[in-house]
Amino acid sequence: GQCGINASGASINVSLDGEELDIAKCEISDFERVLDMREGHLTRRFVARLKSGKEVLVQSKRFCSMAHPETGALRYSVTPLNFDGIISLTPYLDADVTNEDANWDEKFWTSIFREVAHDGALLVAETRKTFFQVASAMKIRASIDGKRQELRSYPSERENFVSLALEFSLKEGECLELDKIAVNVSSLNVDVSGIATEARQRLAMSFEKGFDALLEVHKAAWNEKWQDSDIRIDGDVAAQQGIRFNIFHLNQTYTGTDERLNIGPKGFTGEKYGGSTYWDTEAYCLPFYLSTASEEVSRQLLIYRFRHLPRAIENAAQLGFANGAALYPMVTMNGEECHNEWEITFEEIHRNGAIAYAVYDYIRYTGDENYLIEYGLEVLIAIARFWAQRVNFSEAKQQYVMLGVTGPNEYENNVNNNWYTNYIARWCMLYTIDAIQSVKEAALDAWNALSEKIKFYEYTETNHWKDVCEKLYFPEDPSRGVFLQQEGFLDKDLRPASELPKEDRPLNQRWSWDRILRSCFIKQADVLQGLYFFEEDFDLETIRRNFDFYEPLTVHESSLSPCVHSILASRLGYREKAYEMYLRTARLDLNDYNNDTEDGLHITSMAGTWMAVVKGFGGLRVEHDRLSLSPFLPSEWEGYAFKCRFRGAQLEVTTHKNGTTIRHLGGATAAILLNGKQIDLDAGQQATG
Ligand code: BGC
Repeated sequence: GQCGINASGASINVSLDGEELDIAKCEISDFERVLDMREGHLTRRFVARLKSGKEVLVQSKRFCSMAHPETGALRYSVTPLNFDGIISLTPYLDADVTNEDANWDEKFWTSIFREVAHDGALLVAETRKTFFQVASAMKIRASIDGKRQELRSYPSERENFVSLALEFSLKEGECLELDKIAVNVSSLNVDVSGIATEARQRLAMSFEKGFDALLEVHKAAWNEKWQDSDIRIDGDVAAQQGIRFNIFHLNQTYTGTDERLNIGPKGFTGEKYGGSTYWDTEAYCLPFYLSTASEEVSRQLLIYRFRHLPRAIENAAQLGFANGAALYPMVTMNGEECHNEWEITFEEIHRNGAIAYAVYDYIRYTGDENYLIEYGLEVLIAIARFWAQRVNFSEAKQQYVMLGVTGPNEYENNVNNNWYTNYIARWCMLYTIDAIQSVKEAALDAWNALSEKIKFYEYTETNHWKDVCEKLYFPEDPSRGVFLQQEGFLDKDLRPASELPKEDRPLNQRWSWDRILRSCFIKQADVLQGLYFFEEDFDLETIRRNFDFYEPLTVHESSLSPCVHSILASRLGYREKAYEMYLRTARLDLNDYNNDTEDGLHITSMAGTWMAVVKGFGGLRVEHDRLSLSPFLPSEWEGYAFKCRFRGAQLEVTTHKNGTTIRHLGGATAAILLNGKQIDLDAGQQATG
């Protein structure tokens, strides 16, 4: 992804006696690239032999600081192996960037200001559409065999670009080491008029600390993250590496320090999805942060949507809804809808349901009832108002129907009565009615103020909601005992995905939309997404019949699909299936299974992988205010352990062949159900089952 200013990364050009070092054009040996996930840095090492026959050993280590989020550091070293000569290193800052998939080489930054000194440089630029500024600054220190060097530098600059060519005269075997410390300061965080000054000051502080000290605090910050979120898997190194890779990326994508930030499906690792927020956050990511970080972190994800409520109301108003009904965007940066696949995402109004569900999920997990009073209820009411207006009464059916929607399965568009959407809509209205009652009981003044503010006529509105809920239509097939994904689903040519020729997969790259939309093949969990969210509403046999019916029709062409299937399969005792589905996500990007890792990593699906272990194999649920666990051991593993927080307690759950041990690591008393048995644990205690 190039849409940021290229400030730290590998942004150094190298030449040897005037000959450019380009690893695409010279002979490379001993290449090694190591991502140290425990300490959070990337190292690279190789020997390059240029056309002239000159050989150098190049080593680099870099990180974006977990402790000082605006700081990045790069240590770059070059050792000539068979010559004496002049090595030139040119660190630069570059805002003159385009995206690989941009329209007509579209540029992103307007140049504002730049300066270059003999040992550093600064660049200020402004984004073209959202008009915020970023000041990037870098400063350089160099040494040869550990001896600090005076810098001989040749600055150069043009619009949106500054660089410093630094020349060093080296003898064979001498090691030149250059530290580039860089900062990015954004006008979202500091006053724009002082942005350059602020960048200079922060750079000075980070530079003063130096690479080694910055690395130490960075490592310590990562250590804390791992203390809270690691999963250990015994007896399967590939699975162990896979899950840690996922946890690593989730932690570096979102830290929960800023309520204006959220999680893009590719995080910061690629251009696809443009860094925007989807329903992925609420439906897939929230449980990871609920369990592995303090509750403020997941609360920020919710507040993000609270802050966007006025925009969601505006969005709904533009579509003809009234009375404070809110429709949240499917794709957003700032609360405005910004999807670019109109026909697919526009009608995916189910996202509204996931946003309401997240409020419920957060509160039941953390016990933070106050959230409802302070923020949650206002969002719930606005969403409930939307659902109540989005349905219409069908004279023919004598029931309410919801027409023209797209469910989570994007291989169907513009369908009527998508079971999942109808279900989450009804759930949301009923939950909101309950939530109103509990806020009234807990904080009547707050309730009065809110109902005044949003002009809520409780009696009329909730009675209408109740009527809609009572008479809402749900397509089913009584003979099979399954819910129908949408009306008319059974008219399709129902064939299992296993009958599809291999050359036809993935369907979205091989078939026309016309063919995809008419087929029975399902991109990702849809009815099953509902059974996953609302598991406690259904008996196991109902879940089983629906799973057995839908899973064979599913092609899992969204990376968000296998995890939900894995969790349900675990619940149903389909352990092989659960493991197979888990494997499809755990090393998705490490092994590039979908042949699309170059678009960026599947960050939001990484949270799904975590859920497949913790909610799937571990059976983690909240039941009657207790943390319920019913772990099993996949037969491929010797054991596994995960950490989770629950209502102020931190626990470690370890499962081996002979059972499960829960250790209470600290905090409040934990109310647990282990394999159905009630246990209360205090700090330092443990229980087995
Ligand atoms: C999925 C959506 C998801 C989006 C971003 C699509 O392929 O079908 O459910 O929100 O990717 O991850």
